[in-house]
Amino acid sequence: MQSKLENNIEFLKGVGPKRAEILQKELNIFTWSDLIHHFPYRYVDKSKFYRIDEINEATPYIQLKGRLDSFRLIGAGRKMRLQGSFSDDSGTLDLVWFAKIDWIHKYLKVGVEYVVYGKPNKFGRNFSITHPEIKTVGEIVKQNHSLEPVYNTSEKMKKFNLDSKGVSKLMYNSLEQLNNTELTEILPLKVLDAYKLMSRNKAYHQVHFPMDEDSLAKAIFRIKFEELFLIQMRLLRMKINRNIQHKGFFFEKIDNKFQEFYEKYLPFELTGAQKKVLKEIRKDTLSGRQMNRLLQGDVGSGKTIVSLMTMLMAIDNGFQACIMAPTEILAQQHMEGISGLVAAAGITCAILTGSVKGKARKQLLTALVAGEIDILIGTHALIEDPVVFKNLGMVVIDEQHRFGVAQRAKLWKKNVMPPHMLVMTATPIPRTLAMTLYGDLDVSMIDELPPGRKPIRTNHRRENSRLEVFGFIGKEIEKGRQIYIVYPLIEESETLDYNHLMDGYESVKRQFPTYPISMLHGRMKPADKEFEMQRFVQGKTKIMVATTVIEVGVNVPNASVMLIESAERFGLSQLHQLRGRVGRGADQSYCILMTGYKLSKESLARMKIMVDTNDGFLIAEEDLRLRGPGDIEGTQQSGVTDLRLASLSKDYKILMLAREVATHILNEDPFLDAHENQFLREHLAAQHRQKGWGKIA
Ligand code: ADP
Ligand code: MG
Repeated sequence: MQSKLENNIEFLKGVGPKRAEILQKELNIFTWSDLIHHFPYRYVDKSKFYRIDEINEATPYIQLKGRLDSFRLIGAGRKMRLQGSFSDDSGTLDLVWFAKIDWIHKYLKVGVEYVVYGKPNKFGRNFSITHPEIKTVGEIVKQNHSLEPVYNTSEKMKKFNLDSKGVSKLMYNSLEQLNNTELTEILPLKVLDAYKLMSRNKAYHQVHFPMDEDSLAKAIFRIKFEELFLIQMRLLRMKINRNIQHKGFFFEKIDNKFQEFYEKYLPFELTGAQKKVLKEIRKDTLSGRQMNRLLQGDVGSGKTIVSLMTMLMAIDNGFQACIMAPTEILAQQHMEGISGLVAAAGITCAILTGSVKGKARKQLLTALVAGEIDILIGTHALIEDPVVFKNLGMVVIDEQHRFGVAQRAKLWKKNVMPPHMLVMTATPIPRTLAMTLYGDLDVSMIDELPPGRKPIRTNHRRENSRLEVFGFIGKEIEKGRQIYIVYPLIEESETLDYNHLMDGYESVKRQFPTYPISMLHGRMKPADKEFEMQRFVQGKTKIMVATTVIEVGVNVPNASVMLIESAERFGLSQLHQLRGRVGRGADQSYCILMTGYKLSKESLARMKIMVDTNDGFLIAEEDLRLRGPGDIEGTQQSGVTDLRLASLSKDYKILMLAREVATHILNEDPFLDAHENQFLREHLAAQHRQKGWGKIA
C-alpha cells in the first residue's frame, strides 16, 4: 500500500490545483511528505508580553498588551497613513498602517484593550510597529498554543492565502491524517530509550504545533538526530558493503623501488606527519581489503611525495599506478616533479591529458596496456574507456573536491579487482563536513608543514594604498622574487571577467614596464596556458596576472607575493588556497588582500580571519559558519542538502552522537537483520530507491 506521505499535495484538504502549483513552484513541495518537512524557521512566544519601556532598537518581534488611545490620519492620497497611539502601564508607542486603512479604522475601537504583535522600529524619538497583528484579549485566551510557528512564504503564496498561518493550516490538515501508521518509528526502541528521544510521530506534530518550549526542543533534537543519523547509516553501510564486496590487492613487498627511493633519491627528510600517513597506508595495503583513504593536508604540507611513495608500493608488487589531477597545468607539474624524482630509479612515467592526441596517444595507450608504463599521470582523460591498464593497483586523486563521486567510481573499474584509492585534498574541510562528505572513507591527516617554512604575512589594503603596494612589489622583484596578481572570476559574465583582467594587466604593465609579465585565464588554449605557466615557473616572467585558474596546486617556490584583487569577491577557502601558492620556499612571503572601501560586515569578517590566521582548518570552520555548507563544493551529492533542521556548523554534538549510535548498531548487526532494526532497514532501502543512490558506487 502506498503511504499517504507520497500523496500529491494537490489532494490535501485545503490545497487543490492552483495552490498545489504555487507550493511546487515556490517551495518545491510536491507531496505531503515534502510539506511536513517544511519546518518553521522560528517560533513566536505568544505567552510572553513585553512592556513598552523594555523596547530598544534590538528588540525582535514581540507581543504587547495595552489600550488603543487614539487614531490619527496623516498625509493624503497614496502616502496617507493611519497612526494609532497605543499604551500600557509603562509607556506609549505608535501603530502604523499604510493599507486597509478604512477597515482598520472601523474595526478597532479606541479605549479597548488589545494584544498587539510585531517588530518595533525606531522613527525619530518614538518606537512604532507597522502593520501589527492585532487581537482582542478574548481571542488570545481562546488560543491554546503559546508558541506559534512561523513559516517561510513568498509574496506569490500570500496572494493565495498561503501566508504563515495558511501554511500552518495545511500542516494541521496533513498531520491530522498522518499518524503513527504513516510516521512509523524507524529508530530501534533501544536507541529511543537510551537517548530519551521523542517518538517520530510526536516529533513531527510537536515541531509544527509545539505544546511548550521543552517539547519543541525535544522534537527538534529528535528530527536533527534522525537527519544526521540516516546519512551516517548510509555512509557506514557503504563502507561495510565495500569491504565485503571488494578484496584488496596485497602489497607484500617494499624492498625494491620503495626502499631504493627512500635511501637514494628522497630529496629531504620526511616530516613526522608524512611518515605517520605512509604507515597508515601501508597497513591498508596489507589488510586484504581495498583501501579507500582520504588524505587531508593543508597547501604545501607535502602530499605529493606521500602519494609518490604510495605508488612505489604498488610498483614493487608488480602493479601500475596513476595519479589524476583536476587541471592540465597541475598534471604537467606532477609529471615533471614525479618523473624527475624517480627516473633514476628506472621507473617509467607518462602523461595523458586532453592535449595528447593522435599518434602520441595511440602509442601511450599501447604502452600502458603492455605494462611498459609504471605511473600514468593525467587529468580526467584518465577515466575514459580506451585507457586500459595492464594491471592497475593504486589510484591517487589529487584535489579530490574537484571531482565527483562518479568519476572516482570509474577508476575503480580499471582492473578486475578494484585498485586501492588514495584521494587527496588541500581544501581543509571542517570535521562535521568531512564526516558527512567522506564518512565512508578512512581519513589521514598531514598536520605539520615541512620545516623551515615562514608563516605567510597577510595584509588587508584598500585602493588608497595601491601605490605603496606596487612599490612593495617592485622591491620584491628586485630581490629576485616573483609575484602573483589574481583577479576574481565573475560567473555571470565571462566578458566582464575578461575585461577586468585585461584592465588589470594593462595597469600592471604600465607600472612595471621593464619586467616581463605572464597572463593566464580560462579562455586560453591549454597549450598557451602551459606555455605561459612554464615561463613563470622558469623565472622568465616576474609577474603572473591571472584568474583563479592558478588556484589549485601550482608550485613556484620563488614566488613571494600573492596580491588578490577584489578579495571580497572570494570565499574564505578560496582565499586560503590562493595564499598557499606563496610561502613554498624559504623566504618570507606575503599575501595582500585588496578590496573596495565599502565592505559588508561579512566580507570584513572574512578579511579579518585571513589576516589573523594561517590555519586552514580554522578557516574552513569559519567558512562553514559564514556561508553554510550549501555553497561548499561537493555537498550536492552527499546528502548534506537533505538536512533541513540539522546544521553542520552548529550541531557538531548531535552529529557525533548520530555517528556513534550508527556505528554501534552496525557493529552488532551489520546487515540490519535483527527484528528491532527492521523498520530502519526498510526506511533506508526506500530512501535509497527514491534518491537513486544505488547508482553511484
Ligand atoms: P601539497 O600538499 O600542497 O600538494 P606539495 O606536495 O606540492 O604540497 O609540497 C610542497 C613543497 O614542499 C614541495 O616543494 C615539496 O618538495 C616540499 N616538501 C614536501 N615534503 C617536504 C619535507 N618533508 N621537507 C621539505 N620539503 C618538503
Ligand atoms: Mg598538491
